[in-house]
Amino acid sequence: MKVIKYLMQFLLVAVLSAIYACNEPEPIRALIVSGQNNHNWKVSHRAIKQILDNSGMFISDVVLTPPAGGDMSRFNPNFDDYDVVVLDYNGDRWGEKVDEAFLKYVQKGGGIIVYHAADNAFAGWDEFNKIIALGGWEGRDEKSGPYCYIKDGKMALDSSPGRGGSHGRQREYPMHCRNAEHPITKELPDNWLHAQDEMYDFMRGPANIKDLLYSGMSDAATGGSGREEPLVFTVDYGKARIFHIMLGHCGASLENNPAMQCAGFQTLLLRGAEWAATGKVTQPVPNDFPTNAAVSLRKDYGREISSK
Ligand code: ZN
Repeated sequence: MKVIKYLMQFLLVAVLSAIYACNEPEPIRALIVSGQNNHNWKVSHRAIKQILDNSGMFISDVVLTPPAGGDMSRFNPNFDDYDVVVLDYNGDRWGEKVDEAFLKYVQKGGGIIVYHAADNAFAGWDEFNKIIALGGWEGRDEKSGPYCYIKDGKMALDSSPGRGGSHGRQREYPMHCRNAEHPITKELPDNWLHAQDEMYDFMRGPANIKDLLYSGMSDAATGGSGREEPLVFTVDYGKARIFHIMLGHCGASLENNPAMQCAGFQTLLLRGAEWAATGKVTQPVPNDFPTNAAVSLRKDYGREISSK
């Protein structure tokens, strides 16, 4: 009888474990591409990895290119192993084989995050410029496409000549929601205060923005364009789900990094990554999301959330 009792208990545990395993969502696999940047990529890619991994929703890997001028043949990521690819890269071209693999991944309907200076990269690569929609620096000018800004609540294009990419002095600034129905923005406050950061302005490109999610006023008094600038959006590029976030200029260290420690930035990165990977957002609005009056820093990149 005892044997039967143990057997029954064993079966019960096995069945419950199986049910539990079925209910537990599979983690989303993310690949962070870094290794060269005119920014502090040694800190930024670690911050991104912590934000993703600490959420408990993602498992991320990092792939680093060789340093500038290095042998790119050693850089051969397998994009297809991942649900979402986070671009934290601005440097040498990858080479034909990786370029091709990347385009194939995106065109098959891959998930992409374009993070901050990743939109400075590859100014001469037309297809990449369509994947980011707007870019700056690295020789971009009127040949790259129009400037794009918000006027009277609508997107306006300006083809006048001039260089692409600029920003005023770093500051805290209000974020203005432009589409409250998108899965990434749904139920987040319409206006909230972002922690100290650069605000990119005068960006130019094909401007194939799909859904503009947030904009911000680039204050002329602090060296900005004086225009309402698109800062967070999705890109219209075939079947791909591309989330472009211009926020998040990386600081000197993980500890001194307000733009990436901002709970608003981290929330958008996580929601954008889930959307890019799955087309949905299941994450609730966090309690520490910034308000329109106060910034909110998540200094440990969400570690306390995963330990709850
Ligand atoms: Zn920057």
